[in-house]
Amino acid sequence: MKHILPYVTKPGRYIGKELNESVKKLDDLLLHGCLVFPDLYEIGMSHQGIQILYHLLNNEPSIYAERAFCPDIDTEKLLQARGERLSTLETSTPLASLDFVGITLPHELCYTNILTILNSAGIEFLTEKRSENEPIILGGGACAFNPEPVADFFDAILLGDGEEGVIEIVQRLTKAKKDNLSRAQKLRILSTIESVYVPSHISFTYGENGSIKTISSSSEQQLPITKRVLPSIETYDHLLSPLVPNTRIVHDRLGIEIARGCTRGCRFCQAGITYRPVRERSVEQILDIAERSIESSGFEELALLSLSTGDYSCMSDLLPELMKRYSKKQVSVSLPSMRVGTLTPEMMDEIRQVRKTGFTLAPEAGSDRLRSVINKGITENDLLETAENAFTLGWNHIKLYFMIGLPTETDEDIQAIAELAKKIIQIGAKRGRGRSKVTISVGTFVPKPHTPFQWAGQLSLDQSREKINQLKRILPKKGITLKWQDPEQSYLEGVFSRGDRKLSELIIKAWEKGARLDSWSDHFNFQRWCEVAEDCGIEPAAYLQERGKKEIFPWSHLDTGVDVDFLDLEHQKSLTQTYTPDCRYHGCQQCGLCDFETIEPLVFESGSSYYDRTDSRSFSEISSKSGSDSKFRYLVSYERLGPISYLGHLDFLQVIFRSLRRAKIETAFSQGFNPSPKISFGPAMPVGTESLCEIFIMELTTPLEDPNAALKTLNDVLPQGMKATSLVLTKKRIPQTLVSEFLIKLSDPLTQDEQSQMQRFFDSKEWLITRTRKGRTQKVNIRELILDQRQDSDTELTIKILTRTGQPGVKPLEALQQMIGREADDLLSSMVRKMNWQELDLQT
Ligand code: SF4
Repeated sequence: MKHILPYVTKPGRYIGKELNESVKKLDDLLLHGCLVFPDLYEIGMSHQGIQILYHLLNNEPSIYAERAFCPDIDTEKLLQARGERLSTLETSTPLASLDFVGITLPHELCYTNILTILNSAGIEFLTEKRSENEPIILGGGACAFNPEPVADFFDAILLGDGEEGVIEIVQRLTKAKKDNLSRAQKLRILSTIESVYVPSHISFTYGENGSIKTISSSSEQQLPITKRVLPSIETYDHLLSPLVPNTRIVHDRLGIEIARGCTRGCRFCQAGITYRPVRERSVEQILDIAERSIESSGFEELALLSLSTGDYSCMSDLLPELMKRYSKKQVSVSLPSMRVGTLTPEMMDEIRQVRKTGFTLAPEAGSDRLRSVINKGITENDLLETAENAFTLGWNHIKLYFMIGLPTETDEDIQAIAELAKKIIQIGAKRGRGRSKVTISVGTFVPKPHTPFQWAGQLSLDQSREKINQLKRILPKKGITLKWQDPEQSYLEGVFSRGDRKLSELIIKAWEKGARLDSWSDHFNFQRWCEVAEDCGIEPAAYLQERGKKEIFPWSHLDTGVDVDFLDLEHQKSLTQTYTPDCRYHGCQQCGLCDFETIEPLVFESGSSYYDRTDSRSFSEISSKSGSDSKFRYLVSYERLGPISYLGHLDFLQVIFRSLRRAKIETAFSQGFNPSPKISFGPAMPVGTESLCEIFIMELTTPLEDPNAALKTLNDVLPQGMKATSLVLTKKRIPQTLVSEFLIKLSDPLTQDEQSQMQRFFDSKEWLITRTRKGRTQKVNIRELILDQRQDSDTELTIKILTRTGQPGVKPLEALQQMIGREADDLLSSMVRKMNWQELDLQT
């Protein structure tokens, strides 16, 4: 895919070569596959599950699992137009030539992306049509518990915790390959592995009213298929060398899973059922992972991951220890999913030290009554108290998340959302924070499979819109902002969550008509889905209706381990607003999952005394020390060659910050709210331009003992394509005015006309081009910026360009395009390399 890099937006998504990527010799492999996240790189690389599986599979010496992500629309078109195939990031191997392709199923609105991936890879959509040579397409992840709308696209799907299952799958596939078994034989073998679902072996019959009559198996596949449960997440090798992206991603940080599973028992929550039971990681192991992973990655943020981080039983031990260790190193600790009721004022104080954004609470419902229905287990008093603490501790923006359309909801419950928001804004005003703000975010409730509300109906589109309009009418304007999730996207999510195999036709047709990246609201086109549904004779609303207790669901053959009777009882209890406590603290609630021999909740005791608490300095004392005055400035020169040159300027800065951290070169930090390393960089380079002579100047608080050794260490941790060429003490600053020499190699020779045009260019005194930036149009005389040119052959020339800090400049290819008059697109495949530079206005 590297040929198309000059022509796509964000080429950094497709170049790979990240730190800690797995590199193997292809000749030594027994099985070669790829893990695919069906969304763009920046989303997929933020997904913890992909990183865990990548690490586990590549620990097997004879197996190679590379990566691929969904191409963006422009890249997909370009691949199509050039007859190229989607290939892996690591070795550019076409997906179609691999032994297996494992695609995660993270959410329902990624389903057309799966088709984009298969089509771009040249792999048949339907399992029944795949030839012997095509890879086995494997699935897993959150949507595996009702994969029916996409089941026809998968050869096999793993239910539950992936750690053990994937290893067993690849081992069986390796043997099957060695034995030269047919595709059908391989699927048969997969169907005998615990928790592996082979959709083509299962068939459905329907009654006259369109509901499912029977689900049966045509192989050794026993029904129901029950999910895998890892007894302890501690026993599995945690990834200690996480992949570090070179380009910016959504969650660009080190994630440590501190616990799996949540048994709070919120009745709308599918993850609360499918990830049971709770299995915590010990404080010692978390600290050890943090230490080793930060060292190997250089990340500046550490996120404690779990479905409900505040429920972690040893948080009062863990958080202060992490803050103490990492605030010194300018590594922040974040807790992305906190829950009201788990937040003590002390914990909020700790969070305040590192969180710069608004304070988020998830009441889910407006009234205490409706929160009892959903078993949320928090009252209005809890919410107001937490809000008061937040305002007192210095936050002035509180975000509140709600669902509309929860079972038994009335107008009073919607009214209660507005009342709660008003009370919170009043608390903010009382606490003397005149600028206090409240943001209300609402989404339509989707009754998910395997939850106590799986029998409930979902709001129609009109009902969703009306409730949002009601909120718009009743919410005060001052200090309160309302945001809402697109009701049409929630509607489609509901259809696919609750849908059956008949929907695969709808997904294929919608994809053929252009549906792409549906979870991105700027790409989502609901009208198209409606038209296609009509063409297919599918009534989407039918999937959203209330279901009878005896109804067979499209997911009835897939078992989370939680008894349907327990779900039913929970549904009954919701109607009487009866509370079900958390089994991790209040004894087993008989959901049916644990056998109490190998599977049971694993929760640690708080109050351990492992940690050195002798350092009594506060967080702010520690951080202010690390921002002390620095005197030692080093000039680092480096090269950037090959695909890495397609990173954007900000991505390069991040790569350098993290590489210095990995090399243990401790820079000084700026003071203020968001401290950043004191490093100044040379002028930004255009994306795709290589360079032999980039520079940055870093400030250190102590001198380097041995700059040559530091240079070597830095080179050991820089990503492929980057090389530091010198590191010297300096008194200079980054030059403000300089002349750079660029070598350009053209793919097509210069014509006679182009030579003449170039002559005219250099004969002129002025060559104006028009630029529009931030709505302002400006004329720039680029003739005075292009100082000279030298032709080495009819495809190679060198140009000298003047750059002045803060003044308009010209990029090498833009310069050449003006000089010779060739179309900009025809120059994109040229190689451009900065060869050297010279300072014109040296400041010391
Ligand atoms: S079986 Fe009991 S202890 Fe285990 S997850 Fe269910 S309710 Fe909790």
